[in-house]
Amino acid sequence: VPVSMGPLGSPIAQIGIELADSPYVVINMKLMTRMGRAVYDVLGTQGEYVPAVHSVGKPLAAGEKDATWPCNATKYIVHYPETREIWSYGSGYGGNALLGKKCFALRIASNMGRQQAEQDGLGWLAEHMLILGVTSPEGVKRHVAAAFPSACGKTNFAMLIPPKGFEGWKVTTIGDDIAWIKPRPDPKTGELRLYAINPEAGYFGVAPGTNEKTNPNCMASLRENVIFTNVALTDDGDVWWEGMSPAPDHLIDWQGKDWTPADAATRKAAHPNARFTVAATQNPVIDPQWDDPAGVPIDAFIFGGRRSTTVPLVTEARDWVEGVYMAATMGSETTAAAAGQQGVVRRDPFAMLPFCGYNMSDYFNHWLKLGEQLKGKGAKLPGIFCVNWFRTDENGKFVWPGFGENMRVLQWMLARVEGKADAKGAEHVFGVTPRYEDLHWRGADFSKAAYEQITSIDMAAWKHELGLHEELFQKLSQRLPAQLRSVKDRLEARLAG
Ligand code: GDP
Ligand code: MN
Repeated sequence: VPVSMGPLGSPIAQIGIELADSPYVVINMKLMTRMGRAVYDVLGTQGEYVPAVHSVGKPLAAGEKDATWPCNATKYIVHYPETREIWSYGSGYGGNALLGKKCFALRIASNMGRQQAEQDGLGWLAEHMLILGVTSPEGVKRHVAAAFPSACGKTNFAMLIPPKGFEGWKVTTIGDDIAWIKPRPDPKTGELRLYAINPEAGYFGVAPGTNEKTNPNCMASLRENVIFTNVALTDDGDVWWEGMSPAPDHLIDWQGKDWTPADAATRKAAHPNARFTVAATQNPVIDPQWDDPAGVPIDAFIFGGRRSTTVPLVTEARDWVEGVYMAATMGSETTAAAAGQQGVVRRDPFAMLPFCGYNMSDYFNHWLKLGEQLKGKGAKLPGIFCVNWFRTDENGKFVWPGFGENMRVLQWMLARVEGKADAKGAEHVFGVTPRYEDLHWRGADFSKAAYEQITSIDMAAWKHELGLHEELFQKLSQRLPAQLRSVKDRLEARLAG
């Protein structure tokens, strides 16, 4: 399976060749990547590529009937960053089998980007980020890249439909999961900027929870030519999953067993990690530049996790280093916390913990150095923001409506990047957060009191939070950049003062 990760021939793209014994892998890769003969034309006879070998580890004995889901009890997946190879054995699961995605586009590629910095002093970035375009009613187009850990809203944000009150605004998708980002002079102004491409060409998304109300663009993408994995089957041969619609009277569940709503209390009809695979071209709001080999210039980076307390709706970092600190210390709550109870926070730096192909402290350093170098060369750096759509009330219910309403936050972030006079905010310990009157509320019904609930800064909670940052820094103390320690000291001084 020859694939171009990124638009064919793009200076940011890379080539991979996966050898697989699973037809499931081949047809998924066909939808997920730019795959086919044209890749060999770009590669030529001397080109470089990343080889990847995948086997489900289930050879059939003579006369043996094939399994529905062949796999081996022994499973391993190994990445060799030095030789840039991927070896995967025993599993057919997407993350272990579609080797262009997390394995190549994040683990191997992140290391390639850092190694490149040893050559040219800048290097590039392979990030767990969606990329979207925002066009204002005046026709000004901006681009943001956002890193949220898995199941924290990347696919939804990438397909956002602007809410009531934002008529004339348009959000378009470049990518929903991974971004490759490289510095390059703007062809018009000569100014050095960061350009992003989506190395993928399709979406491998979680089906449960996806519905017409929260993500109609995603549902529209799924009408035809889709591979569904581990969903439930309706009596008329359609698919169903929890959170799509009220449950039908009868289903065949993801394991092939009969299922009725009476079973809902004990087992799910669709696996909670049931997936869809669909080509990006079926997305009704695909960005016209999504396949542009030049990529799109990034105006802002957004980082966000799932936090029921402490972290405000949105915060702007005061500078690049503080932004890197925010991203390095971001965390997400693992389990759905019981009402009123605080969940367990798992630190997930840059949403890259499972995907960074080298030492995490070196990774922070790569980001810091890139920022320093770009600034030294007169580049305008993207703004860095931290968001949290998930603060809850005393009953454990989300206070912020999220989804399309996130547009209000996005619009403020872009106005800040543009330096618009009316884009104000209030500075606090952690950065700059808009006051109620700084966001556009036309078409909305969201009270000032509710806004306070999701933006208030609890000093005691922040003291505790910084203690948790310290725990992370202890774990990463080997080669941890001194600049990050300085930011922490500054935050602590602000808390004390
Ligand atoms: P991804 O894995 O990062 O791509 O995340 P998804 O976009 O698939 O979303 C994961 C889960 O978070 C789904 O259950 C979504 O319904 C939910 N989600 C996404 N965006 C929001 C939001 O703005 N607010 C709330 N409350 N939930 C959201
Ligand atoms: Mn996703």
